[in-house]
Amino acid sequence: MLNKVRVRFAPSPTGPLHIGGLRTALYNYLFAKQHKGDFVLRIEDTDRSRYVSGAEEYIQKTLEWCGITPDESPVHGGDFGPYRQSERSALYKEHIELLVDKEWAYYAFDSADALEKHRENHEEKGKTFIYNWHNRLKLENSLTLEKEEVYKRLHNKVPYVVRFKIYDPEHENEQYLIEDEIRGKISSDLSLLDDKILFKSDGMPTYHFANVVDDYLMKISHVIRGEEWLPSLPLHLRLYDAFGWDAPKFAHLPLILKPSGRGKLSKRDGDKLGFPVFPLEWKTTSSPGYKEQGYLPEAVVNFLALLGWNPGTEEEIFEMDALIDSFDLYKVHKAGARFDPDKNRWFNQQHVQRLPLKRWVDLCKEVLVSRGVAFDTKTLFSVAELIQNRVVLVEDIWSELRVFFEDPSAYDESSVKKAWKENTASVMESVVLGLEKRGLSNSDDIKDLLSDIAKQHQIGMGGVMAPLRVCLVGSLKGPDLSKLILLIGTRATKRRINIAIYTLCK
Ligand code: GLU
Repeated sequence: MLNKVRVRFAPSPTGPLHIGGLRTALYNYLFAKQHKGDFVLRIEDTDRSRYVSGAEEYIQKTLEWCGITPDESPVHGGDFGPYRQSERSALYKEHIELLVDKEWAYYAFDSADALEKHRENHEEKGKTFIYNWHNRLKLENSLTLEKEEVYKRLHNKVPYVVRFKIYDPEHENEQYLIEDEIRGKISSDLSLLDDKILFKSDGMPTYHFANVVDDYLMKISHVIRGEEWLPSLPLHLRLYDAFGWDAPKFAHLPLILKPSGRGKLSKRDGDKLGFPVFPLEWKTTSSPGYKEQGYLPEAVVNFLALLGWNPGTEEEIFEMDALIDSFDLYKVHKAGARFDPDKNRWFNQQHVQRLPLKRWVDLCKEVLVSRGVAFDTKTLFSVAELIQNRVVLVEDIWSELRVFFEDPSAYDESSVKKAWKENTASVMESVVLGLEKRGLSNSDDIKDLLSDIAKQHQIGMGGVMAPLRVCLVGSLKGPDLSKLILLIGTRATKRRINIAIYTLCK
């Protein structure tokens, strides 16, 4: 029987989660759910010097907002905890000793000064100093010192690090074959790699060591992570060899590129071009996140899913369940994926239009309540329905709703110039008169009234409709005019016309 699929998202809490990190979490989640597997959130917080308070909560909130719910995590618990690396020190200590005993790892006592000297000496000879198979027997470590001396130093708490013997020319070939589920087989030259530090004398493991130990102990079957970790894969696989463990499968996701396609997407691109690169607002950045900019989480999930993968059909709009069915890790692209902020807005608009009316009405209601605008439920439903396909970002809701609840506070200059002619005031007065005389119960009544007025003044329908729109909305944009009149009612319509005549004829 195949082992259960278990994947993990393993962020370091060094700041807010970048949109690229969120995509990694999403791909892990989709892969886990489509295989009825587990999605684990593990917080990699062993590097205390880079720890940023609030970052872990930010990560959790972001996943929650997107509906990427972990099966196991520091807050959800699980059988393989603790899920914060800072709470797993004893496990790392135990495992590093195993590697030292097996002579795959060794204590190194070289001081920073001594290493700097080696570096300088090498540079003088035009070489680069690497702590590796070539040099390790010339340095101050447990491979070169007497056993007693090593014990003495450890006992006396002389600072040390534990390094990994990644390559030994006496036992191995230089060429080491690694395999990535997306990129296939890659050959790596072990003789070029350094003896990475696995453990520091402060009792803390480094990322590489803790990451491998935890993936093994947490029974992770697939490691799906960003391309920036591909260079670390030979080291990670060597660590599995050293322990004698079966390694999980690895898949390295393509980079997310700037909108220009040149280089990796950065926060600066977002600031420059005016789009967020963080899912939620982060306390120290002045820029809002996708949520605060009015994106729906389902739109963010949708556009992220398609950054580096597509179903191979024309289909672009996906809800989470459909993504779980269609996603294919083995069809993730190798090349970087270009970030397209305009397309992301389009995705949001598509998802706004697809929202069930009830949820859409609730969103509109929240906006009105937060602004202290009075409304009745019937009008709210009708208005919400009317504006649903006009909104791109949730943030736009108010600018669309406003005309139904507030008289215009200003008139757009170029609209006035286009629509307001010499006789317009008298045409608008006729509209007011007509509204007073006739009962208007549907769109046809309004159309009839306006067309009668056009005839009466011997002008085209545009000569009535355009200025009327200016009176009611403040510009030439806005919703269907007869629907607007029916929703705001005759009284508000007359009032808006009279205010506009007064303001524009002054
Ligand atoms: N803690 C690493 C990071 O922040 C995890 C990399 C991995 O998934 O192995 O990206």
